[in-house]
Amino acid sequence: MTRDVAEPCIFCDIVAGKIKTEFIYEDDAVVAFPDIRPIAPLHVLVVPRDHHATLAEVVTTKVGPPLLGRLLKVAGDIGAARASKDGGYRIVINNGAAAGQTVYHLHVHVLSGRHFAWPPG
Ligand code: 5GP
Ligand code: ZN
Repeated sequence: MTRDVAEPCIFCDIVAGKIKTEFIYEDDAVVAFPDIRPIAPLHVLVVPRDHHATLAEVVTTKVGPPLLGRLLKVAGDIGAARASKDGGYRIVINNGAAAGQTVYHLHVHVLSGRHFAWPPG
């Protein structure tokens, strides 16, 4: 999916290597890197290389389901490999401002290492 190139996107810049960021995983479609402001001992972002602003935007497209499968597969693998001892981890996608989305390039949060309350705040 294309975006207005006049509009900057921090995650596109990270994917393109313009902002130095350590990738803990990468393949042809997906990268994963630590969140800059972690809210848990493990806080990794799983990000598609292609720009899609939101889950809502991509889910109805042809590329949506396979891409979402790949993002969740990587998120689950990171959870399995890096979660705290009890194996608990939380996967989050914030869709839209009301849900807390602040970066408008689709991403999956992988969180672990502390207790996560339910319902979330
Ligand atoms: P959202 O609130 O959109 O679901 O999550 C965006 C996340 O991106 C936040 O947790 C925020 O800390 C993280 N983030 C924002 N800018 C950067 C950055 O430049 N580098 C990294 N690694 N994470 C970022
Ligand atoms: Zn982007």
